[in-house]
Amino acid sequence: MHKFVFYTIIVLNWFFISCSTAQQKSTMQKNPYYSRTDERKLKVSNEEWRHILSKEMYDVARLAHTEYAFTGKYWKQDIKGTYYCAVCGNPLFNATAKFASACGWPSFFETIKEHSVQYKPDHSYGMDRIEVLCGRCDSHLGHIFDDGPAPTHKRFCMNSIVLDFEAEK
Ligand code: FE
Repeated sequence: MHKFVFYTIIVLNWFFISCSTAQQKSTMQKNPYYSRTDERKLKVSNEEWRHILSKEMYDVARLAHTEYAFTGKYWKQDIKGTYYCAVCGNPLFNATAKFASACGWPSFFETIKEHSVQYKPDHSYGMDRIEVLCGRCDSHLGHIFDDGPAPTHKRFCMNSIVLDFEAEK
């Protein structure tokens, strides 16, 4: 009986892991705009992005939702590598610019290039903030604040779900 339960759990685990990997793969495969080297600006409608992105990614990237603090996959990650826009592949941050912030979202003090991102005033929810958008695909990434560490004293407060990470080899 115990053996039966054990093997059932193994099979179910295998099934769920296969499903989630297949789902990730299909999301990447059907995104024709994803490139880590193409720097051309993208003009893609939300209608089209809605068919390409997962609902969770679409809600943050295109509707400017915010993931809950301390829930994203990168907020406490400390590994050398590069963070890309998960929507279009644009290189955004080097891990050397990431710092341990208490806010619960992945935080960086500078972008890879000046034009990696763009900025837009955001007065939603009764607050005056500056929104950070991807410089290539205009997706919402998060906000920027003036309480970061030296040398820039900026804090790029990002949503993990719109970031892709590749570790340094
Ligand atoms: Fe992008």
